Amino acid sequence: RHEDLDDIILTHFHPDHISGVPILLMQLWLLGRKSPLQVYGLHHCLTRIEDMMHASACKTWPGFFPVQFHPVPEQDNVLVLDNDDFRITSWPTRHFIPTIGLRIEVKTTGTIVGYSCDTEPIPNIVELSRGVDLLLHEAAGSGYGHSSAAQAGEIAAEARAKRLALIHYNVWETDPRPLINEARTTYSGPVELAVDFGEYPI
Ligand SMILES: [Zn+2]
Repeated sequence: RHEDLDDIILTHFHPDHISGVPILLMQLWLLGRKSPLQVYGLHHCLTRIEDMMHASACKTWPGFFPVQFHPVPEQDNVLVLDNDDFRITSWPTRHFIPTIGLRIEVKTTGTIVGYSCDTEPIPNIVELSRGVDLLLHEAAGSGYGHSSAAQAGEIAAEARAKRLALIHYNVWETDPRPLINEARTTYSGPVELAVDFGEYPI
């Protein structure tokens, strides 16, 4: 239910990660949302989100709900969000623009999820992934600002992640399934391809 959405963490201001924000805000407004929405992210990202909202003229939407911004310092192991359900911390990644990866601790179950976001393989990603039950790691390909599936596997192995789900991989005119075997060359745990609208019980 849309009322269940209280908090949104934005990792960085790249279109494939944030372009849905204005339409999400409009949809929540059309559904009659009244309660404030909390938005977390780096200053670099949040100022641009504010610009997007300004461009969308959100303030002219009658009864538009409050959107409250929570800037996250661009430092290692920063507490982003701590509520009854989750404790979420962030680390800067190495990407084209300021970006954070996340470590999500589920308080009710004790499950821990790591999310590399977009990044080259750097020690910070091992840190945020240490001992996680599930590591969501990008596999856009090696090179500046990104990681290959084999590099994702290296991070998962070094962090002793219990399970690896590859995400942010190329699907344009290519079959991504070989990425699973590529990750298996460096990581011996279970590997899968994360899919849009996939559900991962935590
Ligand atoms: Zn990106």
